[in-house]
Amino acid sequence: MSRIPVYEPQLGGNVSAYVNECLSTGWISSRGQFISKFEDAFAHYVGAEAATTVSNGTVAIHLALEALGIGPGDEVIVPSFTYIASVNTILQTGARPVFVDSLDATLQVDPVLIEAAITPRTKAIMVVHLYGHPCDMDAIVEICHRRGLLLVEDCAEAFGTRWKGQHVGTFGDAATFSFFGNKTITTGEGGMVLARDHGVMEKCRRLKSQGVSPMREYWHDMMAFNYRMTNIQAAIGLAQLELAEDFLQRKSKIAQYYAARFNGLPARTHAPVGDVTHSYWMCSLILDQAEVRDPLRSHLNERKIETRPFFPMAHRMPHCRTDQVLPIGENLSVRGINLPSYPGLTDEQLNHICGSVCEFFNLPQLERAEQVLA
Ligand SMILES: *Cc1c(COP(=O)(O)O)cnc(C)c1O
Repeated sequence: MSRIPVYEPQLGGNVSAYVNECLSTGWISSRGQFISKFEDAFAHYVGAEAATTVSNGTVAIHLALEALGIGPGDEVIVPSFTYIASVNTILQTGARPVFVDSLDATLQVDPVLIEAAITPRTKAIMVVHLYGHPCDMDAIVEICHRRGLLLVEDCAEAFGTRWKGQHVGTFGDAATFSFFGNKTITTGEGGMVLARDHGVMEKCRRLKSQGVSPMREYWHDMMAFNYRMTNIQAAIGLAQLELAEDFLQRKSKIAQYYAARFNGLPARTHAPVGDVTHSYWMCSLILDQAEVRDPLRSHLNERKIETRPFFPMAHRMPHCRTDQVLPIGENLSVRGINLPSYPGLTDEQLNHICGSVCEFFNLPQLERAEQVLA
């Protein structure tokens, strides 16, 4: 069996046809029909009014924060247990990230700790729907309304994720997605921004394209950026969106299979809690004992199975270090690994992964899991 990566994009469907259309018509830059087609189809999919494409998921967050007017002197509350882009983009605006801990059951930011971290300088809360499970949006939206705070959702890992049936990204004042090569739908590099307010959405469109005046050529009335996506990327994105339901269904099956096979291990999977749709960007295994993690990873590596550790806590990084103790996230982050979870995984590969994990723990192979895939 060849090496099994943690992720691999599935580039079937209309990807080649749409990309070839860009090439044969010459529309390879950031103008062309696929840009608005992808934006409209994406907005429709998540249930938003509008969406605007950008060149990656990191600049998507930066653009959203800038468009909302977040800057020096402001504080933005963010979970420390996240990918670093959530934090760096806050720093890039000149605002200060204020780190809070997460919940053990869901891995998501703890609303009670958000409330406790609010100061007179707090301008916004950034939530991150980590590994595809939603945050508690009832509690967080309520806090934002009551305390008059902006809400930004980093949905980079949460395409297909729903809270009580509603797609994430539609709760906040702004929301962002990533289409990096290992995300649930991909454009290679790419991202999307949503904004509730029409004016903020317009500001995103202006800011991502040099702030050029719509009325006057080469007239720029604000400091701005080039964060545009290309028509080729959008062509890939549109084709990916057409396959999205298949991807999500297969990923959900994979997660169910892992859960069934790992029942009884000294570890747990990242199970959905409450009325939520977990999109399983990543299929995680949270070990009871942190010491087991590295030996398990080596064991799997020897069997040609790639894994990834959970993100280290952001507040431990040299450039944004604090002396806080955030016990839940710190504990989770040293115990978790992510297993292969891409929709193209075959049943045979899945069986090999689960067999190798059970072998590590000296657990007998559990036959009953086979029916999950049937
Ligand atoms: C992937 C990711 C990003 C950044 O997306 P890029 O497209 O890689 O720039 C931001 N936040 C989170 C939580 C991510 O997982």
